[in-house]
Amino acid sequence: MQTTQCPVCSSDIIIEEESSEKDLVNCLNCGTELEIVTLHPILLSPLQEESEKESDND
Ligand SMILES: [Zn+2]
Repeated sequence: MQTTQCPVCSSDIIIEEESSEKDLVNCLNCGTELEIVTLHPILLSPLQEESEKESDND
């Protein structure tokens, strides 16, 4: 098991041994979904959320 930092809030993220690239992990602190880009070294990329904060124009 490894840990890395959330790119959004910098809290610790636990990476399970069985995790692989392209897997998704959730930051327990800010709830952001993060995609594992590479494992060596661990690089996380926040998923692009659609209409999370932007209001849809009707
Ligand atoms: Zn976070």
